[in-house]
Amino acid sequence: MNRELRKTIIAGNWKMNMLASEVNSFTSELNPLIPNFKSWCDVVLCTPFVLLPSALESFKGTGVGVGAQNVSQFESGAYTGEVSVAQLSDIGTEYVIIGHSERREYYGETDESVNEKLIATLKSSIVPIVCVGEKLEQREAGVTVDLMALQVKTALQGVSSSDMKNVVIAYEPVWAIGTGKTATPEDAQAVCAAIRGVISGLYGTQVADGVSILYGGSMNDKNAAELLAQPDIDGGLIGGASLKPDSFAVIVNAANQ
Ligand code: PEP
Repeated sequence: MNRELRKTIIAGNWKMNMLASEVNSFTSELNPLIPNFKSWCDVVLCTPFVLLPSALESFKGTGVGVGAQNVSQFESGAYTGEVSVAQLSDIGTEYVIIGHSERREYYGETDESVNEKLIATLKSSIVPIVCVGEKLEQREAGVTVDLMALQVKTALQGVSSSDMKNVVIAYEPVWAIGTGKTATPEDAQAVCAAIRGVISGLYGTQVADGVSILYGGSMNDKNAAELLAQPDIDGGLIGGASLKPDSFAVIVNAANQ
């Protein structure tokens, strides 16, 4: 990470876990474990839609941000089961994950729909966390960097330089998500640096240097410090370990380096 140039962000992704009745105990366990986090990073928890009101209430005044895990690309109307940017904004949601690999894999999201969702989100003040990542066979075929370039360029089509100040990218190798397999710090660093290079090619070095790029994929209390020590890894997107306040707190504190 490089805190002089960009924000460090530790974001949890609860996926389809937790109940409204469990949110307050999570908050009261987590808060005392991360007393001074605001001096080195932003902390966010991305919850299922139905838990957003409870999480917003529970984290009020703590400095921990609350995010959604998906958003519609459409403004409003006949889209049963979807949730709009305006609806997320209206209740105070501060972040949204866009294009998580589970959305791509199980719900048919594509680089193009990710781009539409990003454009829709950038009309609000919600911070988009745009996920990119390769599958195992793509890594083994040696196409990771080319594929990341394609995913990033497509996701960012039509995004202005000034909007890039609000965009966060999460590099999440699909083979590392929820599997316990983590990219080595060197491999994760190499891909995050390549992604920054792609952004630099599109918008110039100054803009690219300001973009926070997170690593996600089985980050946990044991491996976080080493991953976060890499110069182009500006934080983490954390699934499993974000469900346990003690593990999540270790990761938040590991970002203080
Ligand atoms: C994720 O959900 O984005 C993720 C990285 O999950 P995990 O940390 O469980 O691999």
